[in-house]
Amino acid sequence: MTLLQNILKYNESFVANKDFEQYKTSKNPDKKAVLFTCMDTRLQDLGTKALGFNNGDIKVVKNAGAVITHPYGSTMRSLLVAIYALGAEEIIIMGHKDCGMGSIDVDAVKETMKERGIKEETLDILNRSGIDVNHFLEGFSDVFERVQHNIDIVYNHPLFDRSIPVHGLVIDPATGELDLVHDGYKTQQ
Ligand SMILES: [Zn+2]
Repeated sequence: MTLLQNILKYNESFVANKDFEQYKTSKNPDKKAVLFTCMDTRLQDLGTKALGFNNGDIKVVKNAGAVITHPYGSTMRSLLVAIYALGAEEIIIMGHKDCGMGSIDVDAVKETMKERGIKEETLDILNRSGIDVNHFLEGFSDVFERVQHNIDIVYNHPLFDRSIPVHGLVIDPATGELDLVHDGYKTQQ
């Protein structure tokens, strides 16, 4: 069976057995917060459990590396919508140690793309049309700096309500231990 077939088969009994009942919650987060973190597999459960959050407690926004790549991209949009439409009153930005985006080799990624059939010409066209493919794919070297940079983007965003605290954390994906990068209560206005 394929993964998709397994999903659909499992889902039939999940619904039939009313397993969904244990996950019932509202669309607004009980702890009135939104967490932005990395899509790393190790954080799937650990990334909320190590912070003491359960189902329904928070909004979670994820991407590769927990990087806000653009002030008007989908991440910033999600954070703003969480605040203005979905009941979040605090933002937590959490990077993690040993992040795949911290060590990503852009040239190797581009080589893999080419091996999978993406043409060099396509990369050239993108670069000529103003999309810096290297910048688009690049990671970061220091997760603590990256978290702080994200916080600065949020605080400086013209649509951001500066009375909202933005906290910065770095989690160890092996132990769940947190390092505090920024206490948002100290800079809220
Ligand atoms: Zn990561």
